Amino acid sequence: MAVDAVFHEGATNLPKEFLEQYDLLRQWMGLSDIPLKIGLSEHGAHTDMASIEMGVQMMAQTLKPNYHGFKDEDLEKIAGAATYFVLAHEIAHNTTHPGREVKSWENSVKDIDVEARDKFRWMNIISDICINYNIINGMNLVDSITGKKREEIAEQFRWGLVSEMFMRHSTDHTTASAMINQGTNAYGQAILENRVLDANGVPVSLEDPAVPLWQRYQGYGRGDQIYPSLAYSVLNNQGENYRKVRCIKGGDGRRNGKVSEVTDVKTYDGRTKGSGATGWEPIKEYLVDGAWQSSRYYIPLCPDTGKLCPAIWDGIAIRGEMNRYWWAYVSKADARKGTSGYEYLGTQLFVYEWCGIYATNPKGWPQFAGKTGRAAAEAFIDAIAEDMDRVMRYR
Ligand SMILES: [Zn+2]
Repeated sequence: MAVDAVFHEGATNLPKEFLEQYDLLRQWMGLSDIPLKIGLSEHGAHTDMASIEMGVQMMAQTLKPNYHGFKDEDLEKIAGAATYFVLAHEIAHNTTHPGREVKSWENSVKDIDVEARDKFRWMNIISDICINYNIINGMNLVDSITGKKREEIAEQFRWGLVSEMFMRHSTDHTTASAMINQGTNAYGQAILENRVLDANGVPVSLEDPAVPLWQRYQGYGRGDQIYPSLAYSVLNNQGENYRKVRCIKGGDGRRNGKVSEVTDVKTYDGRTKGSGATGWEPIKEYLVDGAWQSSRYYIPLCPDTGKLCPAIWDGIAIRGEMNRYWWAYVSKADARKGTSGYEYLGTQLFVYEWCGIYATNPKGWPQFAGKTGRAAAEAFIDAIAEDMDRVMRYR
């Protein structure tokens, strides 16, 4: 296969279940005619209103063998949910906001009252917030889907959104590849072969052009490996390797670069392990070395490679190194080296998405500060405002 091609056609390179799910998504959202392509951009997805392009690691994270450390019932809900949510999101750019009737993104940004060079970036975030609120509440499904079915689909999307934010991505494929070839992880624990094997029991050859993408990106060293949120690992008493973090900002009892284990987590309304914190919501503080510390000053480590393994909420790692920060601390100098400015918008997106979740508070989801509706959303904004201020000031 020409891996240097710009696009791969989804139909020949995606597993059957994936293609079935994509068809379902289009039907649910009333969009029947949009081709799906797998791009070479590793992460993320986008639409130009004529097709949807999805990064190859988005596909890899639909493959259950790439997941580790989840309880069976959680794996059922979560494996693939984030990717399908992102596809629903891209479909919704066509059906919900800004919608195909605007014809182009240029038309959609005309009335946004910010400096010209920032219009597209703001439009993206405003549109994303509108869309995600619609999706997780089942508001932009076709009319023929009603009642319980509508709620079930919304629930599935909600899991997609929160798992996309908080599940951890291990991206150092070189280290993972060496580990699986020797059979043990960085902590000397046995790890299981999870690559696709050929008839001789050998991992399928990446040199063979007939091997479809979905087989190439399965397994240690091949696709990003996915681990639960750090909070999930703490709440479920998982082993030390699942609870390790590296300090990225010293001071107040912290030492930059030190690796520690987290023993408890605290949400923005003060819930901890013993008082209702959940594994899938924003975490304000970690209990580290006996003291509560801002989660922003730590990056979770991979339970297998020991390399940086952030959740999207923290930022994005590529080949095991931080490439972009969202809520996690970054110095102004380092931020300027990268895509400076986007952190302002990304953190707004995260905050308003969580306002939406806490405000609508469907059954089984955490209640914020004992409140519901607008009051819950406002209480969350108040509670996270100081951290947001520090993000904006690189503190
Ligand atoms: Zn979007």
